[in-house]
Amino acid sequence: MNKILKSKTEWREQLTPEAFSVCRMHGTEAPFSGEFYDYKGEGLYRCVCCNAPLFESDTKFDSGTGWPSYFESVEGAITEIKDNSLGMERVEVLCSTCDAHLGHLFPDGPEPTNLRYCINSVSLTFEEK
Ligand SMILES: [Zn+2]
Repeated sequence: MNKILKSKTEWREQLTPEAFSVCRMHGTEAPFSGEFYDYKGEGLYRCVCCNAPLFESDTKFDSGTGWPSYFESVEGAITEIKDNSLGMERVEVLCSTCDAHLGHLFPDGPEPTNLRYCINSVSLTFEEK
């Protein structure tokens, strides 16, 4: 996979202020504020920064958290790293292609994976099937 690497200035020029803050500055959007937490379209969710495919709509579920949630990612699309900020032990998930911050991964999701990818809407775009 070819990495897409750009400077903060380049990303700032490309992205909306909200997407820049979440994806490049590790921010978190307010719950129930995003475009996709309650979205039920069929298709593919892609990285807002580099357009890499990240999640299929049939792995999305209603977690009740106010963020779009998935129990599985597209294979190889996601990089997991330990995040000990805010005094919590969490797993941060990044886009493997461009290192965009997407959200966090929790071990309390539904079958069959029991995983919950908790993702910021603003880090995603949607491609209808
Ligand atoms: Zn990306």
